[in-house]
Amino acid sequence: MIKIRVPAYDWALVQNLSRRDDGAKPTLWERTTGRVGRFKRDVTTLLTVQQRRRCAYCRSYLHEDHPARDHVAPKAVYPKWTFRPENLVLACYACNTDRKDTYDPIEIWHRKYRRCRFKIVHPYFDAPGAHLDYSIGGPRQILIAGITAKGDETISRFELMTPERVKERAADALVEEQPNRLQQQFQNSYRAVLATRAPLKPAARIRPTRL
Ligand SMILES: [Zn+2]
Repeated sequence: MIKIRVPAYDWALVQNLSRRDDGAKPTLWERTTGRVGRFKRDVTTLLTVQQRRRCAYCRSYLHEDHPARDHVAPKAVYPKWTFRPENLVLACYACNTDRKDTYDPIEIWHRKYRRCRFKIVHPYFDAPGAHLDYSIGGPRQILIAGITAKGDETISRFELMTPERVKERAADALVEEQPNRLQQQFQNSYRAVLATRAPLKPAARIRPTRL
């Protein structure tokens, strides 16, 4: 899971779309041009940066050119929140289509989105670390255990503990850490070279040549 912050949307546009008739919102969402098109493009661009191009649910890298925009609370069930920024995330195909589909993540509904009680770890509202515990299970395994009922539900809904996922996460973490590690190694050897070298002499003064 990734904790997401609401990106800097064009708030006038968000308000404009939110004011539309709730029943018409899911159909409106299908548009690709005009205001809706612009908002959807913003969602993709801004969330790609915010989520570091990773799926909001399983953290796998989003290889797709146009990753799926997923409504945490499905728009078919909750049309009112179709354009609600905190209800929108980018998700990989498997999480969006195979694992989530029409799943209703709301346990207790409230007319205010923020006050709903969610069954899964909410990418905008919850700290993943409070619900999920990551640990190394072996040389090529990163395990996830639920700390809370929300954590357990998230793991089972998004199938985060299948043998493939466990291996995939480890491979993924390695790739992610590699640049940092290389950078660290580079800095260490650079410092070592500097430490063994005699201090640099101040550059010889250049005497003005007499003409
Ligand atoms: Zn995913």
